[in-house]
Amino acid sequence: MQAEHQVRALLDRYTSMFRQPDLLDVYAGWVSPLVALCAEVEVLLVGGPFVFHFTRIKEKFGQCRISFVLEHGPDARRTAETEDELERCTKEIEQRVKAAQCACASRCLVCGRTAAAPAACMPTPLCKLHAWSEDQRDPWSIGKIHLTVRLDR
Ligand SMILES: [Zn+2]
Repeated sequence: MQAEHQVRALLDRYTSMFRQPDLLDVYAGWVSPLVALCAEVEVLLVGGPFVFHFTRIKEKFGQCRISFVLEHGPDARRTAETEDELERCTKEIEQRVKAAQCACASRCLVCGRTAAAPAACMPTPLCKLHAWSEDQRDPWSIGKIHLTVRLDR
């Protein structure tokens, strides 16, 4: 499965960002926005004193919700300036995270294609092809990527 490989590559490349993969629910449709987000965060923080990791990625009412922690590295000297810089970087990343969540909201959860207009009763973004899964008992199961498989390698 293509999306699963992409997510594994992401976990391998950005190990420090994904400290607790079991707290992350990733769906196939979200992979591209997540790949872009990780690259943006890396560029923003490279060579700097701060460390970033995702604390949670989860689905709520069909929408992607991402939370993260940005903090001083273990050896960092903390000053008023670095505190200000940390706040600035946090805000910057919050904006990127919001943009990634928005990108996910317009993509089919299962395949990442442009989602059809959502039904009022069920706002999960799904393309026409995958809209049938709304009728399944667990409409999300077919797009879900199980990150814990990583631990078995
Ligand atoms: Zn789809």
